[in-house]
Amino acid sequence: MKKKDFDVIVVGAGPAGLSAAYVLAKAGVDVIIIERGKFPGSKNVMGGIFYREPMDDLIPDFYKEAPVERHIIEQRMWLLDDVSHFSMGIKTQKHNSEPYNCFSVFRAHFDKWFAKKVVEAGALLINETVVTDPIVEDGKVVGVKTDRPQGDLYADCVIAADGVQSFLARSLGLRKKITPDKVALGVKEVIGLSEEQINDRFGVKSDDEGVTIEMTGPFLKGMEGMGWIYTNKNSLSIGIGVIIDDLVKHNVNPNDLLESLKSHPSVLPLIEGGETKEYLAHVIPEGGYKSIPKMYTDGFMVAGDAAMLVDSVHREGSNLAVESGKLAARTYLEAREAGDFSERMLSKYQEKLEDTFVLKDLKFYRNLPELLEEKRYLLTEYPQFIIDAMTEIYTVDGVPKPDKFKKIKEELKDRFGYVRLAKDIYTIWRKLR
Ligand SMILES: Cc1cc2nc3c(=O)[nH]c(=O)nc-3n(C[C@H](O)[C@H](O)[C@H](O)COP(=O)(O)OP(=O)(O)OC[C@H]3O[C@@H](n4cnc5c(N)ncnc54)[C@H](O)[C@@H]3O)c2cc1C
Repeated sequence: MKKKDFDVIVVGAGPAGLSAAYVLAKAGVDVIIIERGKFPGSKNVMGGIFYREPMDDLIPDFYKEAPVERHIIEQRMWLLDDVSHFSMGIKTQKHNSEPYNCFSVFRAHFDKWFAKKVVEAGALLINETVVTDPIVEDGKVVGVKTDRPQGDLYADCVIAADGVQSFLARSLGLRKKITPDKVALGVKEVIGLSEEQINDRFGVKSDDEGVTIEMTGPFLKGMEGMGWIYTNKNSLSIGIGVIIDDLVKHNVNPNDLLESLKSHPSVLPLIEGGETKEYLAHVIPEGGYKSIPKMYTDGFMVAGDAAMLVDSVHREGSNLAVESGKLAARTYLEAREAGDFSERMLSKYQEKLEDTFVLKDLKFYRNLPELLEEKRYLLTEYPQFIIDAMTEIYTVDGVPKPDKFKKIKEELKDRFGYVRLAKDIYTIWRKLR
């Protein structure tokens, strides 16, 4: 007789695994979620902005009880060089009214709360347990081995939500070993400040309203990456994420880069006088659409970071994890109805994802990693030109405006040449079609 301890085993209690387990438990499925950390969230790091929409569909109005820090009402994008920043962004009352757009969170608190909801819904959670291997019989995944004595567990289906390294997806041959050009190293510092200091420095009225600043430009010295500052209630999260291959090639220590960001004249006044509370680092899968593996095989599906589902352009990952976890669970429910957990049946999971923002967004940016690899100057020369042009325009020095615009036009021609400019615009348009 077929061995079976549970209907479904979910590996990893991050947003992907918890979402999958929640949908399953709510549907009355006998589901276990296995987490290697002391508690869900204890090992998890994020910038961290959590998006409401996919989660609200699971637990309506979740933010009213979840441990969120501030809802974000303003999102800024800064181009930095060594002495300046050029700012764009959006501040809107539409994001300052319920149901809100996104929130700053600490994953250690948020995941723990989410896990409690999953357990209340009927799932079994076991912490401090590492899944070491899939159990495969007759070519089908039928369970997992854990590091506990007599720790083998059997189920109809295993959902791997075990994060970026996904040992499970790799050991089943679904995912190749990650290469350093497909992952970024994110380092983050939490800096304590009072609510009033944060409100004043970021121009918000209360400790519920928050701001994000994403930073790119010549300060990254041509490396592919991003810096950020997010407001929490009593602290700021400041960090950078840079493709590991670039860090190695440029022989740069990410901590040095973060220190240099912190001392930037536009950044320093925001963090000044703050006290370091925490320092964290984690890897981010940034290979994009072309690095996404086949996400299913017989009795097995992969969700979230384990399937490389991160949209690095828009710093989205947690929402892709939630959506993929939900769809993996819904696919299981259909498979259970049909009594068929075969690869053919579970392939519907990837089909469903193709129809959502998750794979549509990633597909839209599919050529971006190669484009940036080929044309590194897009990350340095154009941003620097924009900063210089804006500095020229805003400097009142007796030079008439028509002369300033003429100078900027000449500068554009000298630095790039009209032919190269036209080619770059055409290439970007073609790659993003
Ligand atoms: C520095 C940084 C900043 C980021 N900023 C943002 C942001 O602002 N907004 C955003 O949306 N996304 C952000 N992301 C991305 C986001 O964190 C991820 O996309 C998201 O956490 C993916 O969720 P997940 O559940 O797939 O994986 P994870 O959150 O990584 O969860 C995987 C879980 O599996 C457990 N696990 C792993 N292996 C095993 C095993 N063998 N056995 C048992 N348990 C196991 C882990 O302990 C963990 O709890 C950021 C990421 C980083 C690193």
